[in-house]
Parts: sequence; structure tokens; C-alpha cells
Amino acid sequence: MTDGPAGTLTGTPTPAQRLLQVRTIYAEPAARDSPRGRQVLERFPGAEIIEVPSHWQIPELHGNAGNVDRWVRVKTETLVLGVKKSLSARPNGRSSDFIAPSTANGCAMACAYCYVPRRKGYANPITVFTNIERITKYLRGHVSRQGPKPEPNQVDPHAWVYDVGESSDVSVDALVSDNVADLVATFRDLPTAKASFATKFVNRELLDLDPRGRTRVRFSLMPERDSKLLDVRTSPVAERIAAIDDFVAAGYEVHLNLSPIVLREGWERDWAELLVRLDDELGAAFKEQAAAEIIMLTHNRELHEVNLGWHPKAEDVLWRPELQQAKRSESGMWNVRYRNVPKREGVQAVTDLIARHAPWLRVRYAF
Ligand code: SF4
Repeated sequence: MTDGPAGTLTGTPTPAQRLLQVRTIYAEPAARDSPRGRQVLERFPGAEIIEVPSHWQIPELHGNAGNVDRWVRVKTETLVLGVKKSLSARPNGRSSDFIAPSTANGCAMACAYCYVPRRKGYANPITVFTNIERITKYLRGHVSRQGPKPEPNQVDPHAWVYDVGESSDVSVDALVSDNVADLVATFRDLPTAKASFATKFVNRELLDLDPRGRTRVRFSLMPERDSKLLDVRTSPVAERIAAIDDFVAAGYEVHLNLSPIVLREGWERDWAELLVRLDDELGAAFKEQAAAEIIMLTHNRELHEVNLGWHPKAEDVLWRPELQQAKRSESGMWNVRYRNVPKREGVQAVTDLIARHAPWLRVRYAF
């Protein structure tokens, strides 16, 4: 596999190469001139660099809400380099104790139910924050100020857990820069804390990062029938399952995100099948440390309208007004969740299926 002229590819592309064939990099000058910015530019030498005053002000990346062909092209061919200005670790309490300041936002994948990171236009390509040293220094200081964790909680019995991938998919970010390697190295030396991220992409380069138990990967899993319809551009579920034991052997803690649970005809049968498969295929070392989050689908009215334009089949299962209720969020969006009764019954059904088919899988929380 080689790069041809102007960033074109010859040969059969790997999954990583299919995801990212970068032709244009929008860069804040300070980000472009930083060591991390220069590293990214060196990884994509054929790309045109366009200077922008702010990673938030790139009109070319906005709009085209219903034009998924353009989104995928933008996601594949565009990166943004910026400097993260204000740093803070927000308390969380579900997946993690804190949400770490992001080292990237945006995503090269295009899951139909994902609306959180679509803040830079619907395409929302990856923005890399280049001031990684400031971010890791902030994190070390934040961890140190917490002292030891005083008592166990569902997140972790001993460590303060920091979600480092709230606004991006960290496994894909690692294809773009060494920010992820730097995060893993930072937490490797923090005995009272752990990094954590959910992912739908298998990046085997992460196996070389020597996390020594201080980074938790949460592989997101759902039945293949749902994933094929909804998880656009991600690694197939079979590939994610096949990676789990290898990540444990490489020193990661590996948990599962059973998410999103989508209520549809036959969903319980398909989740049972997935859990049986996990029980059959995964090794003892994984099972001993395994835990899972169960997350019922949340959707969004604006995203529903957009999806109808490019992926109406996804909306057949995602948009179920008879089962869902809408709530206006602080940002003015109409978020949609399953009503209380179907949600409670759904969580109970998945919990029962786990008890029956994968009793080694501790449920950390269900939401
Ligand atoms: S992989 Fe995650 S961040 Fe990327 S589109 Fe899918 S849900 Fe969104």
C-alpha cells in the first residue's frame, strides 16, 4: 500500500486508510507551528494546509446537513489543528469520575445515532488539539489534587477514572497523532488514576503502548444486525470482539459498552446471541476483570430530520414515537429517550440476559 500522487492510494486500502485519506488540513497558526502540529503535518505530507483564525470558524465545514456523501468525504479528507484554550476536568459519575479535557474532537466515523460531536457542521471531521503537554500537565495536577480515592464506587474501586474520549473516538485519533500515546504514558505513571475511553474502532497500534493497567478501553458492542445498519464506517462487531483478549494481554483493562440498546422486533434474541458469543469466544483473563455499561438509545429530533435525508432505514428503528418521549435540553435541542416503562423493562431484560448467558459480566451501571 503506497501513497500515490496528491494523496491518492494504490493497492487495497487498510481500514485505517479507508477512514483517513487526508487532503486538507485547516490549522490555527500556533497549532501548525507546534511540535505536535508539525508531527501531524508530517504524517500527511500531501495535504494542503489552510490557515484559519480559530478551529471553530471554518465555514466550509458547516452546513450540508442532509448530504452524507459530502460528510464522508469531509471526514475522510479533512483534519483540523487547533489549540485547546480552557482546560477543565468535569465531574461525571457514570462512565468515569471525571471527563478529561479533550485532546481531540470530531470523528471519522458516522454512527447514525451520534449527535453529540456534530458541533462543527454535520461532517464534524477530527480536530486535533496540539497543546498536549499543557493538557497532560493539567491532568497530572488534577489527579494529584484529588489524593487517593477515599472509597470505592461503581466506576472503579480504587482509581479516579478520567474519560479521555468524550468528544472523539480515541482509537482513530491515535492514527492521526501521538496524543493518545502521550495520554496512555501519562496515566501509566499515575497510581491513583486511570484513563478510559469507549471505542468502535480496532486500532492494533494501541497494543504497543504499554498501559500497565492504567487505561481502560470500553469496546462498544451491539448485535451485528443493529451495527450493520447504524454504525457507519466503524470496525465490524466481530473484529471488536476478536480484539478484546489481545487488549487485555497488552495490559489494558477492557470493559464493554453494551450500547446503544435499540428496541426493535427481535432485539432480545439478538442480544442473547451476542452474549452467548462473548461467553464462548472470550478468555478467562478478560472475564475476570470484565464489567459493562448498559446504555439505552437516546436520539434527537434534529438528527432524526437529518437522517431521514440520507439514512431513512436507520430511522425505522431509531425513531419510535410510540415508545419514546422528548425532552428539551439546555442547548435547546429536543432529545428523545425511551419512555420510563419500556426503558425500565429494556434494562431489566438485558440484565437478565447477562445473568443467564454471561454471568461473569458485572454490570457497572445501566442508563
Ligand atoms: S464512533 Fe462514536 S463519536 Fe464516532 S460517530 Fe460513532 S458514536 Fe459518534
